[in-house]
Amino acid sequence: MADCSTISKNSEKSSEDRRAGHPLATGTDGLRDPFGRLHESLRISVTDRCNIRCFYCMPAGPISFLPRDEILSYEEIARVADIAARLGLRKLRITGGEPLVRAEVWELIARLRKNRRIEEIALTTNGMLLAEQAEPLRRAGLDRLNISLDTLREEVFERISRRKGLDRVLEGITAARAAGFDRIRLNALSIRGLTEDDIVPLADYALGHGMELRFIEFMPLDAEEGWASEQVLSGAEVRRVIEAAFGALLPAPRSVASQPAVDYMLKDRPGRIGFINPVSAPFCGACDRLRLTAEGQIRNCLFSTTEWDVRKFLRMQDEGAEQASAIARQFTHAVEAKKAGHGIDSPDFLRPERSMYQIGG
Ligand code: SAM
Ligand code: SF4
Repeated sequence: MADCSTISKNSEKSSEDRRAGHPLATGTDGLRDPFGRLHESLRISVTDRCNIRCFYCMPAGPISFLPRDEILSYEEIARVADIAARLGLRKLRITGGEPLVRAEVWELIARLRKNRRIEEIALTTNGMLLAEQAEPLRRAGLDRLNISLDTLREEVFERISRRKGLDRVLEGITAARAAGFDRIRLNALSIRGLTEDDIVPLADYALGHGMELRFIEFMPLDAEEGWASEQVLSGAEVRRVIEAAFGALLPAPRSVASQPAVDYMLKDRPGRIGFINPVSAPFCGACDRLRLTAEGQIRNCLFSTTEWDVRKFLRMQDEGAEQASAIARQFTHAVEAKKAGHGIDSPDFLRPERSMYQIGG
């Protein structure tokens, strides 16, 4: 495992380290980008595989998934997470592809949980395997669950995910609540012409079961490159539908400054409804996120066209100070290269080559 003593020596900024230009030794300011944004969150993709095929993410047809030996092992992920946490990335989110298709992903959670520098571990799932896995995930120390649920209608679920399974997702949500997850958030992607009739039932369902709900705008990260701006059902439009059904939404205090969502409360009903509007109202100004893909590439934005390889250092060098320094430097480079915003709305916007399931949403 990680050579912790070596890294902590480095983080204490010895003069030797400063001479060596060790990124863990160059400042106490954490990972701050050229725009002053401090980075504290790391999204870790554990697989590019998935048990469904949402059209806004994956292709319908045959897919060449990453060969297993290209994917980071749990030990490798934990090593990178340890270095990341020493750099200030103390909030982790496990994602994919579908993280629950990776064997015993709770083993990874338990391993990460032992790292005292990591303050929060969350996981995003489509919920299909949650009924079986909610308990071991909770026992392993997972703090929070985000469950993707775009519709409560089976036929719409099938149109979106090209698979059956809404009942399994709903069973998964019930199991997660029974396992003691008390901060469950539902993520609903809004698509014009498809999910308008789901807005009110989803809000009713979430509020009625004490869960938060966030509506997300469709971003140009679908594998089939079918995204068109006309399909984006904006947060403002969804909000109008909610207000017509439930009354005025009142601004809720932000739980963390960097949160991508703007959350609201209802006047006479407990719960929160939020909007993540990356297309109509980009929130890049408060971004504190980096990403690690399943095969060990750091990305500084969902829409980044550059990646910083950490796998080559994990696999080419012996564990120890040099390896930790090299990996830490990759994080530093990624943060230094961060752009002000994703630029979806710019005429020069270039889609990344990878789609959502290959990046980690
Ligand atoms: N498989 C898990 C799931 O679906 O929750 C985790 C990975 S998935 C890529 C993470 C989130 O990304 C999901 O909430 C999904 O709805 C969202 N997502 C996928 N493609 C998207 C797109 N093109 N635009 C916006 N959100 C997207
Ligand atoms: Fe799978 Fe999640 Fe992508 Fe849907 S959004 S295809 S569940 S990875």
